[in-house]
Amino acid sequence: MTNKYYMPTKVIMGNDCIIKNSEIFMTLGKKALIVTGAQSAKRNGSERDIKIALEAVGIPYEVFDKVMSNPTISCVYEGATFANKNAVDFIIAIGGGSPMDAAKAIALLAAQEIEEENLFSGIYEHKVLPMAFVPTTSGTGSEVTQYSILTNDKAQTKTSIASDLLFPTVTFLDAKYTEHLGVLTTINTVIDALSHAVEGMLSVKASFVSNALALTSIRMIINCVPDLLQALQSGSETVISLKQREQLLHASFLAGIVIAQTGTTAVHAMGYSLTYFKEIDHGRANGLLLGEYLKLVEKVQPDLSGTILEGMNFSEAQQLKELLDELLGDKEEISVEEIKQYSKRAIQTKNIANSVVEPLEDDLRTIFTQSFAK
Ligand code: NAP
Ligand code: ZN
Repeated sequence: MTNKYYMPTKVIMGNDCIIKNSEIFMTLGKKALIVTGAQSAKRNGSERDIKIALEAVGIPYEVFDKVMSNPTISCVYEGATFANKNAVDFIIAIGGGSPMDAAKAIALLAAQEIEEENLFSGIYEHKVLPMAFVPTTSGTGSEVTQYSILTNDKAQTKTSIASDLLFPTVTFLDAKYTEHLGVLTTINTVIDALSHAVEGMLSVKASFVSNALALTSIRMIINCVPDLLQALQSGSETVISLKQREQLLHASFLAGIVIAQTGTTAVHAMGYSLTYFKEIDHGRANGLLLGEYLKLVEKVQPDLSGTILEGMNFSEAQQLKELLDELLGDKEEISVEEIKQYSKRAIQTKNIANSVVEPLEDDLRTIFTQSFAK
């Protein structure tokens, strides 16, 4: 097998990087659509900074702030209709993975007509609106991936639009917007990033480039664990310093570049059912499963799991499982029937075939069972 590396997004980072680089918006278009969730962008200063930057270079804008967590297909069609009605010619996404993923689909749908049944086909005219992204969680890495993951009620799961057209044109990394992200969302999203880095190393598409980025990301996240645990114990996000927030944002960004090359594996395949049917947050869903999946890898390919665990200063997968248990707290209930149903769904996904250690349906049932054991 041969590997490739591709990540065309321009990345601008550092304190006040949006305001200091306002002229870049003039290269994207003449009128912007700002895509956000309902509240956080207004509260954490990111939307204000974008507006200041746009006003500084005389670019008018509209705001679409209707993106919910785990965005739906109808939300992105509504966003695209709004974009066209207001004649915008580029998109600015601010928020976690939900607004960023919705913004990618809106940028695609505003540039061309796509019937809903063809939305996930991956075959589009070569047209998309230019996009600028501002991540405000440290988890999904969507700011540097070609994926837009939407809630797909027909398929009863989350489905990914994957196309190189969806890489954002430019991404701004400024950790100050993540400073007041609550403890639980911080932990859930960081675990998503950790899962991306680990799964990237467990993918059949892993290369020396993606592994180098993944290991760096893993180390950066593990270095922040003591403060994450302290934040959890105290119930206050202020324990996590801005420096650590920056580490987490950078680690998530690196893990995003990793999955842009490798895709995700069995853990994400299984996690989607937990989010769709049990409304468990995306990162938490992955975190509940990651330790047990790595234990399976440890049995079959100990060298591979050993390299990953070394990056965490662990010698066995059980230690990762225990750390994740500590970070995730009390677990949800899951029934035998649910385990059967979710395993059946996960085994059919392409993420399974993307896993170096390809689990059988039976293995998936065991992983679900052990992951939720109390
Ligand atoms: P999210 O759904 O985007 O946001 C979760 C919550 O955090 C929302 O209530 C949001 O509020 C709030 N929030 C965001 N930034 C904040 C801040 N700085 N301060 C305070 N609150 C803030 O969560 P996410 O975990 O980042 O994204 C999950 C989505 O990403 C899922 O749909 C998942 O499938 C997808 N995903 C995509 C990729 C990819 O490569 N494209 C990879 C992994 C996951 P508001 O709603 O008010 O903004
Ligand atoms: Zn993820």
